[in-house]
Amino acid sequence: DSQLNPDYSFMNFIEGDCNRLARSAGLAVAENPGGTAFNPLVLFGDSGLGKTHLAQAIGLKTKELYQDKTVLYVSSNKFQTQFTEAIRNNNKNDFLHFYQMIDVLIIDDIQELAGKEKTQNTFFHIFNHLHQSGKQLILTSDKAPIELKGMENRLLSRFKWGLSADLQNPDYETRVRILQQKAYKDGIVLDNEVIEYIASQVTNNVRELEGALISLLAQSTLNKKELNLELAIGIIDKLVKNTKRELSIDYIQKVVCDHFSLPIDVLQAKTRKREIVQARQIAMYFSKTLTKASLASIGSQIGKKDHATVLHACKTVNNLMDTDRGFKTQIDEIDKKLKM
Ligand code: ADP
Ligand code: MG
Repeated sequence: DSQLNPDYSFMNFIEGDCNRLARSAGLAVAENPGGTAFNPLVLFGDSGLGKTHLAQAIGLKTKELYQDKTVLYVSSNKFQTQFTEAIRNNNKNDFLHFYQMIDVLIIDDIQELAGKEKTQNTFFHIFNHLHQSGKQLILTSDKAPIELKGMENRLLSRFKWGLSADLQNPDYETRVRILQQKAYKDGIVLDNEVIEYIASQVTNNVRELEGALISLLAQSTLNKKELNLELAIGIIDKLVKNTKRELSIDYIQKVVCDHFSLPIDVLQAKTRKREIVQARQIAMYFSKTLTKASLASIGSQIGKKDHATVLHACKTVNNLMDTDRGFKTQIDEIDKKLKM
């Protein structure tokens, strides 16, 4: 089993200026796996721009053209888990052997291997073995290889052997064509003005574009309303407002400092003054509840702390909210300011 999703085909992948190079490199790789200069092919770009889709499309196309080739798609997290289990069960050689037999190996989200030295080391050996045997590697990452942190240099230098192609945010015309294709695929008839309205408002990434279309459909079905421009405007405007709500950690720190009349850089200072420690904890708590940032990333942005400090801060704030009314009022006030 290749772990490939048939929906993620080249046919369903709309081409635009935002993805032309990545797409054509991908097609070239699928037509001649291991035989082009694009080895490894590294697809990178922000979340929701089509890395997984395109990587899978390459796998699907390869399988279609070369039935006898083994293609495997695996997320970095799954690779990591399999590796840990293999070590625990004393099966490391089986693990290596399994991966070294593959003709086209697709590893998604390699940034997830950051800091995992043993996994990286094993992947390094797999990479070398496959590359030397003329097998194809396809990797995806949320950053360009040069910007990846926590990766071994010898791996990074290998990532640069082939081609790194980025996926960018689609322009308006491409967004329109993506929406048309999604609607068509789902058998929905949508007025052009509705499609154009969505494409003009939902501009962050393709995943949100799809999400907007799905909410629109769900609302019109549930409320038995005709899916016209008026309905679209109401629903899309609300959606866009909500996604813009994604606050930045900088902004949260600023609001918290303003609230306590503290200078903003004080949260970055190495001080154990009680009021500052508490303001920092509150900023961490809001960063955890109102953004998608990881504990580690919150810690590194607020006073260069580690993830355990952030976790502790969240617990402390939650406890205080339960036990201290005055504190709870403060938190509610900050919450209101953040959501203004
Ligand atoms: P990433 O892996 O970069 O986070 P995905 O590959 O999961 O992004 O893409 C998010 C969604 O957007 C998927 O449902 C995918 O099918 C869709 N998508 C992305 N790019 C395109 C495109 N060019 N044409 C059609 N659908 C796309
Ligand atoms: Mg992905």
